[in-house]
Amino acid sequence: MRKVAFITGATRGIGKEIALTLASEGYDIALNYRTMNDSVNTLKSDIESKGVHCLLVKGDVSSYEDAENMIKEIITKLERIDVLVNNAGITKDGLLIRMPKENFNDVINTNLIGTFNVTKMVVSQMLKQKYGKIINISSVVGISGNTGQCNYAASKAGIIGFTKSLAKELGSKNILVNAIAPGYIQTSMTDSLKDEIKEDIAKNIPLKRLGEPKDIANLVKFLASEDSSYITGQVIHVDGGLLM
Ligand code: NDP
Repeated sequence: MRKVAFITGATRGIGKEIALTLASEGYDIALNYRTMNDSVNTLKSDIESKGVHCLLVKGDVSSYEDAENMIKEIITKLERIDVLVNNAGITKDGLLIRMPKENFNDVINTNLIGTFNVTKMVVSQMLKQKYGKIINISSVVGISGNTGQCNYAASKAGIIGFTKSLAKELGSKNILVNAIAPGYIQTSMTDSLKDEIKEDIAKNIPLKRLGEPKDIANLVKFLASEDSSYITGQVIHVDGGLLM
């Protein structure tokens, strides 16, 4: 039977790499995007060149209605969802004292509420299938906190509580729920950091480098596979040893 993986926020960075990696493993891919452009169509072609289907599903994860419509479209067209990767995420950094409430709300609405919206719809389908793997992308910052990231750290800590609670609710239903806590990974999210700041960060990482999207995608591949069938409710760090 073909397996279907749904990845949110998969147009670039970590999400894109996860989509390409799972496609290489033979999964049909439902790929969430917000704005159509040439690179989204190129990514669809790259995925299909691996011999799998790629369904593009448009939607903003912070909208409950969009989440509902995306899941309905995936079930109608691809018939099932075996793996959900809640990857879509944003930052709007700033010290709390100067943080407009919109910047707090936007980050919580996308990262945490977005994870709730999509997961809520997908779990109904996974219960019917009596099978599912849910993989939530958190962050080491959700564990350690970070100056200038009250909003982001709260959203990522929330994802950890959400993951553990859902793992307890769904363990008996053969649905496994885990979180990944990446450290600093080279994507457009970290591109805005100045080179000297990146060098300073790297000095404090035992492996002395920032991570690559592939480092996260490789763990997603494992958590999606049957090799991880006795792992649920865990938060696995992929951070070069930054947080121990
Ligand atoms: P990028 O900024 O490179 O990509 C983010 C992706 O999320 C884009 O595809 C973006 O789509 C999408 N997205 C953002 N908001 C929404 C939304 N409301 N609805 C749907 N899609 C949305 O980030 P990364 O690849 O670096 O990050 C991926 C995940 O990994 C995030 O959850 C992030 O918090 C987490 N992470 C990243 C780390 C890093 O160092 N890079 C470290 C720890 C965690 P669009 O193109 O439309 O903007």
